[in-house]
Amino acid sequence: MRFLGSLHIVVAVLLLTTLAGLYADLKSEQLHAQNLNVKLGLERMVRLNQSLTSSVAMAVLEKNTLRAASYHSLRAELEATVREVQNLTRTMLLASDMDALAQDQAALRAVEGEVFALMREERWPDAYKLLLAGDYAMSLKLYEINSDTAVGALVIELANIGRQQDRLRQLTLAFRLGAVLLLLWTGWRYSSRLQAELAEQTRLRAAVTTANEALEGKVKQRTLELEAVNHQLEALSATDGLTGLANRRRFDTCWAEEWQRALRTGAPLAVIMLDVDHFKAYNDHYGHQQGDECLRRVGEALRVNVRRAGELVARYGGEEFVVVMPGTTAEQALQVAETVRAAIQDAQIAHASSPVASVLTVSLGVAVGTPQSSDMPDRLLQAADAALYEAKRQGRNRMVLAAAVPASSTLLG
Ligand code: GH3
Ligand code: MG
Ligand code: MG
Repeated sequence: MRFLGSLHIVVAVLLLTTLAGLYADLKSEQLHAQNLNVKLGLERMVRLNQSLTSSVAMAVLEKNTLRAASYHSLRAELEATVREVQNLTRTMLLASDMDALAQDQAALRAVEGEVFALMREERWPDAYKLLLAGDYAMSLKLYEINSDTAVGALVIELANIGRQQDRLRQLTLAFRLGAVLLLLWTGWRYSSRLQAELAEQTRLRAAVTTANEALEGKVKQRTLELEAVNHQLEALSATDGLTGLANRRRFDTCWAEEWQRALRTGAPLAVIMLDVDHFKAYNDHYGHQQGDECLRRVGEALRVNVRRAGELVARYGGEEFVVVMPGTTAEQALQVAETVRAAIQDAQIAHASSPVASVLTVSLGVAVGTPQSSDMPDRLLQAADAALYEAKRQGRNRMVLAAAVPASSTLLG
């Protein structure tokens, strides 16, 4: 806004000085023409006055009135010229000199009028005497002097006016120069302010970019942290707190997925249900905490012996565990079940109150089947559970394979 204000001032000054310069030039032209007219008028006055006086003198000397025939027209021309020059010089210092000249002429013309009157009466000697008399000669002399004075005054006045015009021209030129300098200065100020604003904008943009990058970095880091926490939470929500194995929730999801997969691929699916023998008695004998430790060791034995990719060991609930074995035959499943059973027995966890053995034992029910679309996923689990029950019934510390799954739950002994 300040820049626009300065620009308006500068443009106004430039316009004013240009107009003033044009006015000065125009005025100078007018004065020049006027002064030329005054100069020509003065010269004509002198010439006409000489013609008048000489025509009167010649008429008297030659006693010839015809000589003065042109006198009146010359006189009218002179009087018109005097009026014209008086008009032109009305506002000039020359005005008083012109008045003096006009009076001198009037005096001359008055004497000449008297001479003409004498000539008409043919009183030639009187007319001659009057013409040579001191008054006329004096008026003539005065007229010449005043005429020279007027010309001198005109020259001085012209010089003065010329100086004034020069001063005005110099002044407008100085103003114009000042306005141009102001324009340049304003432009320079404007461009440096623009540059400063551009630099500030670049700095701000860089600061914003840096802040954004820092923010993006923080957001990325927080996202990674959140993802890690989510993974941990996910793992926790799928893990059994006591044994560190997969929990029932995780097992349910896994079982549903594996069932669908087996349904699609037509591959067999095996499941082992494991239950600790006489665990209530164990708890009663050794206490609940020892019971927990016992469950941990059973879980560890399962973890160590079920290692194939895709297999899952989970705590099914209480002292029951489950093993999911996709793409596994009955032989392979039985082999794993036996390995686990033996490993737990070989762990020699003392179980003083067990009627089966002096050490902790487990019973296992194994079921293997190829899921059909008409089957329910639970049927295979129920078969494994039934096989487990059968193992218990048969005396515990053993495994039983469900015979035909899931069409019927005929069990092998
Ligand atoms: P069986 O051989 O027929 O399986 O006899 P059992 O005593 O093992 O069977 P039962 O189902 O009667 O007893 C299971 C016991 O397991 C009862 C319960 O106190 C115990 N139990 C279940 N969950 C836990 C646990 O997290 N920690 C401990 N220490 N004991 C548990
Ligand atoms: Mg049980
Ligand atoms: Mg039990």
